[in-house]
Amino acid sequence: MAKITLNKNNFFNNLDIIAKATKSIDKIAVVLKDNAYGHGLVAMATMAKEYGVKKAVVQTDAEAKEIEDFFDYILALNSIPNVKSDKIRYTINDLHSIIKFPHATKVELKVDTGMHRNGISMKQLEEAFAKIKEQGLILEGVFTHHRSADELSSEWFWQNDNFKKVKQEAQILADEYGFGALRFHASNSAALFRNSSFDEDMARVGIAAYGCMQLPDAIKIEGLKPVLSLYANKISSRELAKGERVGYGGTFEADENCVVGNYDFGYGDGFLRVCSNNYTTPHAKQLVGRISMDNSSFICQDDEILIFDDAREVAKVAKTISYEVLTSLKSSIRREII
Ligand SMILES: *Cc1c(COP(=O)(O)O)cnc(C)c1O
Repeated sequence: MAKITLNKNNFFNNLDIIAKATKSIDKIAVVLKDNAYGHGLVAMATMAKEYGVKKAVVQTDAEAKEIEDFFDYILALNSIPNVKSDKIRYTINDLHSIIKFPHATKVELKVDTGMHRNGISMKQLEEAFAKIKEQGLILEGVFTHHRSADELSSEWFWQNDNFKKVKQEAQILADEYGFGALRFHASNSAALFRNSSFDEDMARVGIAAYGCMQLPDAIKIEGLKPVLSLYANKISSRELAKGERVGYGGTFEADENCVVGNYDFGYGDGFLRVCSNNYTTPHAKQLVGRISMDNSSFICQDDEILIFDDAREVAKVAKTISYEVLTSLKSSIRREII
C-alpha cells in the first residue's frame, strides 16, 4: 500500500522559523484547507496543537468542525454556517452574502485590495459595516490576500498600502458601529517572510509550514524542510528485453535488458500523469512508461520505493506548483507521523 509519512521534526522546525517571523506562536494561523494541503487534516492538526499553535484556517465549516478540539480559533474561508461551534469565524466574501449569516454569527470581512477574486471592494467598507450591523453579526476581523506576494514586483507594496488605508478606515468604522477592536491580517507564507517587521494580528501560513515554499532567490527563506514524503510498494516486477515496451501506448522502450518494477501509486492516487516517462526519484530510480490509474513503473526492484520527499521536485517536472502536487494526494492514502 502506498503511504505518506509526515516528519514531525521538520514540521516543528518550520514552525520555529515561522514563529520567529510572527514573533509569537499565538499569531500563527496554520492553513489546513484541502486536507492540510494533502498531508492529512487531523494528523497535521494534532501536531500543530502539540507545538502550541492555537489558530487554524480552513475552507469550510465541516473541516473546521473536524478539528475544533485542536484550536481556539478557526477561520472558514468559504462557508455559511452548517454546524455549531463557538470557535468558527466565517468569512464575508461579498456584500450579497451578508444576509445568509444567522444573527450572532462571528464573522471576518474580506476586503479586495487588488487581487479581484474574493472580498468586498475598498469603496464598500462602510456599506459592509452597516449591513453586518443590521444583520446582527459579530464582526471580529478584517483581512485581505495578496495576489503577488511570491513575485518580485511593486504589486506587493501597492496592496500593502491599500490595506493600510483599509485598516485605518475599518477601525474608525468599528468604533462607530460598536464592534470593538478588530483583528487585522493580510499575510500568507510569502507575505509573512517579505515583511521585515511583521506587526499584524496573525499570519495565515500554509505552504511554509509544509516546507515547500518556492520564492525567487532574492527573497528566498533558508531552513524550511518538507514535511511530506510519499512511498509506494511493489505490486510485481518483470524482466524486459531490449526493445520491449512498458505500459499503455508502449511509450517507453527498453534500450537494454532491464528489470522493471510496478508500484501501487498512480494518477488515481494523485500522481500527476504529465510526469509519465519524465521523472526520477530522489534515489535516482527512473519512471518508465505512462502513469496509469493505480500503477506506475520504475526501473527498480526494491519492495518499497520513495516516490518523492520534496513536492517541489515533482512540481518542476509537471510544470506546476508544489500546492497542486500536494493537494492532488488522495485522502485514502495511509498517513503516518514519524
Ligand atoms: C490558501 C490561503 C493562504 C495560505 O497561503 P500559503 O501561500 O500556502 O501560505 C492564506 N490566506 C488565504 C486567504 C488562502 O486562501
